[in-house]
Amino acid sequence: MNKKTVRDVDVQGKRVLMRVDFNVPLKDGNVTDDNRIQAALPSINYLLEQGAALILCSHLGRPKGKVVSELKMDPVAERLSEYIKRPVKKMDDCVGPEVETAVQAMKPGDVILLENTRFHPEEKANDPEFAQKMASLAELYVNDAFGAAHRAHASNVGVAEYLPTVAGLLMEKELKFLGQVVQNPERPYVAILGGAKISDKIGVIESLLEQCDRLLIGGGMANTFFKAMGFETGDSLVEEDAVPTARSLLEDFGGRLVLPVDVVIADAFDNDANAKVVAPNEVNAGWRILDVGPKTIDTFESALGAAKTVVWNGPLGVFEMPNFAKGTFAIAERLANKDALTVIGGGDSAAAVRQANLANQMSHVSTGGGASLEFLEGKTLPGIAVIDDAD
Ligand code: ADP
Ligand code: MG
Repeated sequence: MNKKTVRDVDVQGKRVLMRVDFNVPLKDGNVTDDNRIQAALPSINYLLEQGAALILCSHLGRPKGKVVSELKMDPVAERLSEYIKRPVKKMDDCVGPEVETAVQAMKPGDVILLENTRFHPEEKANDPEFAQKMASLAELYVNDAFGAAHRAHASNVGVAEYLPTVAGLLMEKELKFLGQVVQNPERPYVAILGGAKISDKIGVIESLLEQCDRLLIGGGMANTFFKAMGFETGDSLVEEDAVPTARSLLEDFGGRLVLPVDVVIADAFDNDANAKVVAPNEVNAGWRILDVGPKTIDTFESALGAAKTVVWNGPLGVFEMPNFAKGTFAIAERLANKDALTVIGGGDSAAAVRQANLANQMSHVSTGGGASLEFLEGKTLPGIAVIDDAD
């Protein structure tokens, strides 16, 4: 995937509109996790060093096309300003006369943060007139919002119609690592999938089974496979609707699928519940599977074997509860010590890896949840398709 990036253009003295992913969690008006702000800093600093006047925009939460005061960008502007050590002028809208006036007065090195793009229904509708208004603020458009790239909205797809469009440095990094996995994985290539539901990830399971040498399955989604194998699953999370799919995947790709050989079950969905390790076909009524067991970690490690490429999406257990986080953290540790290209996708998996302080030991921790899954499925992401190709 050869796309133009901020490095391929001259931005000195230009007004640059950059779409970033500042969709951060907020509590009582404070940013509780600023990883996404930090992830945008390389592009922001680069463009400022190169003499651009920078107009940033993002969505935040789900305001449903109306102004929602709790979802204004002010706390984001404040945090960003601390990181880049210069003022960030937060506007009250993302289009309109006030924004136009402020933008006209910008000098190189100035930073403006537009208000939440989703305060306008035209954002999600990818309304061309709205997109053109945003585009008219700048002379160049940079898309650095990989996490939103699977959505065709005005601020990350529509605007590209009206401006030269290049990738930011975060987008470039995501495309480099995920692109290598999809296009040219060094083998053996092993994928690990977990998380709550199989139905969210059927598409990616099917395409990974086509591409990779082995697929290890843990987390809640393994339960539906156990059900398809005829096991009693007690009160475990099982998706009845997906049992036939699980059954046909086992028939078609059984040799490549590796399922847990032991599981941690509990008598309540509670960190302090009674818990024990059993074989997957020993789950009795009243009990539920909340983690993979210690033998599974060893089985997964030998299945990883000499893997040269590893993709991991989805925690192997209910890692939010410390007593059921062992499988997830154990696999994170094994991956951190592996001499392979290790790529982590998915919001919760990334959070688990960071919680374990192992993010720096992975080749790449993607900032995209849905976007990274769709990319791994081999889909064309609209926010990437609009970026100009490299010469
Ligand atoms: P990601 O965000 O990495 O793509 P998902 O959102 O698909 O991951 O899944 C994460 C959720 O899966 C976590 O909240 C975790 O508690 C849950 N989960 C993992 N294993 C189980 C299980 N055995 N039973 C119920 N929930 C589970
Ligand atoms: Mg998730």
